Amino acid sequence: MDTKKLKFNSKLIHSGDFKDEFGSAVTPIYQSSTFSFRDAQQGADLFAGKEKGYIYTRIGNPTIDALENKLAELENGYRGIALSSGMAAVNTVYMTFLEKGGHLLSTAAVYGPSRGVIESHYAKFGVEFSFIDTSDTSQIEKAIRSNTKLLFIETPSNPTIQITDIRKASEIAHKCGIPVVVDNTFSSPYLQKPLDLGADVSLHSLTKFINGHADIVGGALIAKDENLYNRLRKTMVYLGCNMDPHQAYMVIRGVKTLSLRIDRAQESSMKIATYLEKHPKIAWIRYPGLASYPQHELALQQMSGFGAMMSFGVKGGFEAGKNLMDNVKLATLAVSLGGVETLIQHPASMTHASLPVEARLLSGITDELVRYSVGIEDVEDLIADLEQALDCV
Ligand SMILES: *Cc1c(COP(=O)(O)O)cnc(C)c1O
Repeated sequence: MDTKKLKFNSKLIHSGDFKDEFGSAVTPIYQSSTFSFRDAQQGADLFAGKEKGYIYTRIGNPTIDALENKLAELENGYRGIALSSGMAAVNTVYMTFLEKGGHLLSTAAVYGPSRGVIESHYAKFGVEFSFIDTSDTSQIEKAIRSNTKLLFIETPSNPTIQITDIRKASEIAHKCGIPVVVDNTFSSPYLQKPLDLGADVSLHSLTKFINGHADIVGGALIAKDENLYNRLRKTMVYLGCNMDPHQAYMVIRGVKTLSLRIDRAQESSMKIATYLEKHPKIAWIRYPGLASYPQHELALQQMSGFGAMMSFGVKGGFEAGKNLMDNVKLATLAVSLGGVETLIQHPASMTHASLPVEARLLSGITDELVRYSVGIEDVEDLIADLEQALDCV
C-alpha cells in the first residue's frame, strides 16, 4: 500500500510500518548493533550503496528506519533522520551548515540550548551569529549578510509564543541562497508542516508532543530533498548521535495518538486561555487561539490548530509567578512540554536562566513569564487547579 496517499491520521498509524516475516502487528525492536553480510560481495555492495540493507545501527537500523519513514510522510519530506535528542538534531544542523567565518541567523527566543551552544561552543570555532526577532520578517531581510549560511527559526518560539511567517522567511532566505531550518517542536507535524510552507528542513524534539508520554528523549530531522538528507545523515553518522532502536519503538508507539492527544489538549487550552485572560490576577496571556493574540491571523494561515502551549504573566512579577508554581497541585512543576500531563515552569529561573539578563529580556522572556503546557486531563480539573493556586497568590 502506498501510505503516502493516506490522510494524516491513517499515516500516523501505518506510515513507515515494518512488516516482518511473522506478521507482527507492530514494528519490532531490532536491538542489534550490527548486521551480518551474506558474503563478502554483499558487504562490499552495502558499503558502496549498490544494495540497500543494514550494516551497523549508528548508520541505520530497521526499527529506526520505520520511525524515520513515518515522520517524513507526516510532513511530506524526502526522508527523516532520527537522533538521540532534539539537541542532537540541532547540532547536526549546525555542524552541517555552519563553518568558520560563516554566519547564523536565528530567532532570539529560540530554545535556550540552541542558542547557548552557539555562544559557548561554535563561537570558539569562528562561527558568527545574530539572534533577532524573526517574527518581524523585515528584520530577517536586514540581518542577512554575505556570509550568512543558515536561517534557523523556531515557531511558535519557546517560551514567548511568537510566530514567524515560514513562507515569507523562506522566500527572503532563498533569494540569497540560504537554507531554512524550522524547529517545529511546539506544533508537531499535526499542526504545522514547514516543508509545505517552503522550509528546507524541519526539526523536532521528539521528547515533546510527538512521543508525548514524557518517557524518552529523542530528536528528528526531516529533509526536503535527497541532497540535504544525505548531507545531514552523514553529519549524524559522524557525530554518532543516532537514536537507539528501543527509543525508536517508543516513539513509534507514542506518535500514533498524536492527533487525539493534541485535539484534546488544544480544546482545553482554548478554555484555559479564555479563563486566564479574564482573571484579575493575570497581567497578560499569549495563546495563538485568542483573538487578542497579536499574530492570530498568521497562526490561522500557517497552522491547522493553535496548539497546547501558552505563556502568561501573573501580576506581582517574579514572586507571584513563583508563588503560583508552588501552589498548583495538578499541574506538574517541571521543564519539558507536550506530554499527556500538564506541566508548568518559570523560564527566567529555569530553562532560560543561563541567558544573560539583558539578552533574556530582549528575547521577551520577562521575570513574570510562566509557561504552561496543557495535557489531556479534564479541563475542569485544570481550571480548578489554577483557580485555587491563583487564590493563594
Ligand atoms: C526540548 C526542545 C529542544 C531540545 O530537545 P531535547 O530532546 O530536549 O534535546 C529543541 N527545541 C525545542 C523547541 C524544544 O522544546
